[in-house]
Amino acid sequence: MAHIVILGAGLGGTIMAYELRDNLSPSDKVSIINKGSKYSFVPSNPWVAVGWRDRESIEVDLEPACKKRDIGLYPQGAKRLHASDNRIELTDGSFVDYDYLVIATGPELAFDEIEGFGPEANTHSVCHIDHALSAQDAFKKLVANPGPVVIGAVQGASCYGPAYEFAFILEKALRDAKVRDKVPMTFVTSEPYIGHLGLDGVGDTKGLLESAMRSKHIKWITNSKVQKFEADKVTVEEVNEDGSTKAIHEVPSNYTMMLPAFRGVEAVRDIEGLTNPRGFILVDKHQQNSKYPNIFAIGVCIAIPPTGKTPVPVGVPKTGFMIESMATATAQNIARLVKGENPNAQGTWNAVCLADFGDGGIAFVAQPQIPPRNVNWASEGKWVHAAKIGFEKYFLHKIKSGKAEPFYEKLALQVLGIDKLKAVKFDD
Ligand code: FAD
Repeated sequence: MAHIVILGAGLGGTIMAYELRDNLSPSDKVSIINKGSKYSFVPSNPWVAVGWRDRESIEVDLEPACKKRDIGLYPQGAKRLHASDNRIELTDGSFVDYDYLVIATGPELAFDEIEGFGPEANTHSVCHIDHALSAQDAFKKLVANPGPVVIGAVQGASCYGPAYEFAFILEKALRDAKVRDKVPMTFVTSEPYIGHLGLDGVGDTKGLLESAMRSKHIKWITNSKVQKFEADKVTVEEVNEDGSTKAIHEVPSNYTMMLPAFRGVEAVRDIEGLTNPRGFILVDKHQQNSKYPNIFAIGVCIAIPPTGKTPVPVGVPKTGFMIESMATATAQNIARLVKGENPNAQGTWNAVCLADFGDGGIAFVAQPQIPPRNVNWASEGKWVHAAKIGFEKYFLHKIKSGKAEPFYEKLALQVLGIDKLKAVKFDD
């Protein structure tokens, strides 16, 4: 009997646990260690921030689903991973031993890297449900007392889709509140061009997003590094191709929401051979760490190099479908190891994304993630907003019911020609 522990029950960790249950024998033990016993659907946070969703509508209690699937749940959270001893120390001082570990801890938000940044200081955030709820209070104040806003993503960020999404969602919410005419909007981003998205563009995301911004009167500054955030303005250094200063902008802002850079969480950081200098977990094509071969990692917490050099650091996004493909591969690889076989499954890491604009949106598929690509497609339309609502409802249902991937989801994805796993060659 093997004990497999999953650290983190977010988008990747919960699906990971369900897929492991499907792939292992009933005598093997599966446990989740999470901060709390609730799952929260992060992609809905931009809607929470403008009051279109509340906490209850996007959270799922994991206890009943885990019970149903015979998955142990430790809601205390991890204090420290002791990788050489195959055990995790929890915040209450107790320990959990494992035979195999899957790290799925998502990101730590590096607000402390820029002066005045973060919900404790001068800006708002949609990265966590608690942040999104306090951003909602600030949105109400903005409607009551309209003024300029700045939205975007700072130097070293990797999550650009939600920054664009939030700019357009906020724009729609301000129009609905009939105060858009009193709110000048500026999009500030470290990307070298609008629509780069950390992927060097997908299809014509540059043209589609620039056009959408022009038609909604959102100005932008690219190649930017934020120097500091104050209560009434954002100081931005715009750089040239060679990294030299092109201009310093002091952009007035009464409401600022910018995506931060990410790093690995403290419980797993600074473990020689397991993490890179920013605390992201080093994994191979099988999601496995080479120094600790009984440790796997999936989701935002893994190390992926950037697609290419840019004047300001720009990271690669890790989106939902890509993370699910990592979970599917990991479940199969751990099941093989438990049976005494070698891992051979590889996630496709395809980027499939729906960026909602509140009444329309842009969808893109990048397969593979790094160009040139076999599938490089982006499209826009009202259907994207409807599809995003479908994604939310469907994903929450999946988490509640404890099912990793019902057959009709597999079918729909295969009709689109999108696979989660790479075809395995004999030498892989
Ligand atoms: P998370 O979902 O963040 O889960 C990490 C989990 O680990 C959390 O439950 C956390 O509590 C837990 N944890 C952390 N530290 C510890 C510890 N010490 N002990 C125990 N547990 C711990 N992708 C899309 O495909 N579509 C979208 O529309 C989309 N929208 C996004 C919107 C926003 C605002 C953001 C930030 C990201 C979005 N993404 C989207 C990207 C990505 O899909 C999500 O970030 C996703 O939630 C990442 O999954 P994850 O499992 O890696 O991390």
